[in-house]
Amino acid sequence: MPRTAIVIGAGHNGLVCAFYLARAGIKVTICERRNIVGGAAVTEEFHPGFRNSVASYTVSLLHEKIIADMKLHERGLKILERPISNFLPTEDGGYLKLGGGLQRTQQEVAKFSAKDAAALPAYYDMLDAIGDILRDLSLQTPPNQPDGLLGLPRALSQGNRLRRLPIDQQRNLLDLFTKSARDVLTAWFESDPIKAALGFDAIVGNYASPDTPGSAYVLLHHTFGGVNGKKGAWGHAVGGMGAITQAMAQACQEVGVKILLDSPVKQVTTHNTRATGVLLESGSEIPSDIVAANVGPKLLFTKLVDPASLDEDFRKRIANYKVGSGTFRMNVALSELPSFTCLPGTTPAEHHASGIILAPTLDYMDRAYTDARAHGWSRAPIVEMLIPSTVDPSLAPPGQHVASLFCQQVAPTLQGRTWPDAREEVADLMIETVNRHAPNFKASVLGRVSLSPWDLEEKFGLMGGDIMHGHMSLDQLWATRPILGHASYRAPIANLYMCGAGTHPGGGVSGLPGHNAAREILRKKKHIFF
Ligand SMILES: Cc1cc2nc3c(=O)[nH]c(=O)nc-3n(C[C@H](O)[C@H](O)[C@H](O)COP(=O)(O)OP(=O)(O)OC[C@H]3O[C@@H](n4cnc5c(N)ncnc54)[C@H](O)[C@@H]3O)c2cc1C
Repeated sequence: MPRTAIVIGAGHNGLVCAFYLARAGIKVTICERRNIVGGAAVTEEFHPGFRNSVASYTVSLLHEKIIADMKLHERGLKILERPISNFLPTEDGGYLKLGGGLQRTQQEVAKFSAKDAAALPAYYDMLDAIGDILRDLSLQTPPNQPDGLLGLPRALSQGNRLRRLPIDQQRNLLDLFTKSARDVLTAWFESDPIKAALGFDAIVGNYASPDTPGSAYVLLHHTFGGVNGKKGAWGHAVGGMGAITQAMAQACQEVGVKILLDSPVKQVTTHNTRATGVLLESGSEIPSDIVAANVGPKLLFTKLVDPASLDEDFRKRIANYKVGSGTFRMNVALSELPSFTCLPGTTPAEHHASGIILAPTLDYMDRAYTDARAHGWSRAPIVEMLIPSTVDPSLAPPGQHVASLFCQQVAPTLQGRTWPDAREEVADLMIETVNRHAPNFKASVLGRVSLSPWDLEEKFGLMGGDIMHGHMSLDQLWATRPILGHASYRAPIANLYMCGAGTHPGGGVSGLPGHNAAREILRKKKHIFF
């Protein structure tokens, strides 16, 4: 039974894992490289007087069990639902709004196709039903190949859950796991705006076209959460995403977790193929019974573990483990709200408080991907803009605003140039892209900070700038996340575990990898089950 544990990284999953271990009586130390907890879920001041979530910016996947166990609401966490979910300017100069109730969304969609409006309830029911299954599976450790007989009950129970589904739902599930987003959406809808608004979820953090087989799964991944009990909704954490991880750190400290900031880990120490603790960059060594790595699997096994302690096949597979989500993130301080050509006005309105999608069709998204493959970034990029200060005035001075720009389809590495060299040119392009839809935007920018894939790796340790710690493709999901044979959160080195987004159920601020990893570690303490 482990008595001491080290968690490498104080990202939200590291905090969740540490919390459950400490609550079970283990003495836990977290070693975090940065001077702040939270990993990719942090709030920082990026321009004098303007604060925002630096990387992740919207919440839905955070599991309610973790919210309750860590008493995050009691610690002040408040999550607000947006008045409508999305606003999408269309190619013909109009717009589509989603959210605010099914009837209202149907009326909006009917502007483009009555048939699509009629199809919406069944589409949402389908996503809901499949989302329920994913929600269940997300809290469970996937069946793990080497567990043999011990893993059999798990494989049977999860297999049975799927086998008991009506055949139409099994077909839907198969479609969503294997098909492209366009194939799935075209089977339901005929008009471009609704396909684009729904299909956007398929390419968020996914360096792929909506025509790439398997992209429909990423769409599904973005729908299995919820806000304050409302399934599938996305919301805003008051104070930014850092409010979540600050509350988590409080919960950790209450159960005795020691958090060491500015303490980058250089290496996992081993003896006779067992992890024995960590060596910090500072030269100090901290021994412990187990080590749980919150960093992504590629970083862990290529940088922090002695390659000699891994077998050749594992080393090769980790070298080929796919990272690079093709994302570019900006925080922008604004003197006024954008006035859209298709819906003018700078007075706060519901569309300003929604996820604003600047990518009018699936064809546009496909072109963005192919262009980025050829050129390094898309010259007509996909931008989602959120203006959190419309629902949370604490982020900006009175009357002014902060905008999060989440831009998709840039190459993780450039040919013949570096990201530090190209960053500001690409940032200008992102501003121009918004300006094309809202002509007062560029002039309203008071300050900006831009994070290319290279910056995401430098700042957060996200290899290839991958927001999910690795592609969410069929070959890197569930029983194969991160690699077949290691889906049980155990590394191929005894006493070394993985507890970050590179494990099931993957990326996003869910806390689930941290929760599930802690449960696997605690299986050694037989009486503890949660
Ligand atoms: C730009 C961007 C936008 C996103 N948007 C959203 C969103 O809106 N909603 C959502 O749900 N998800 C979003 N995501 C995804 C989500 O934020 C991540 O998947 C999630 O935060 C991963 O959490 P984690 O705890 O597993 O790892 P991380 O948050 O990556 O934490 C890992 C920690 O390890 C630390 N570390 C690295 N190397 C070392 C070392 N050698 N020694 C010690 N510590 C080390 C890092 O500093 C970091 O604190 C976004 C991510 C990014 C980058």
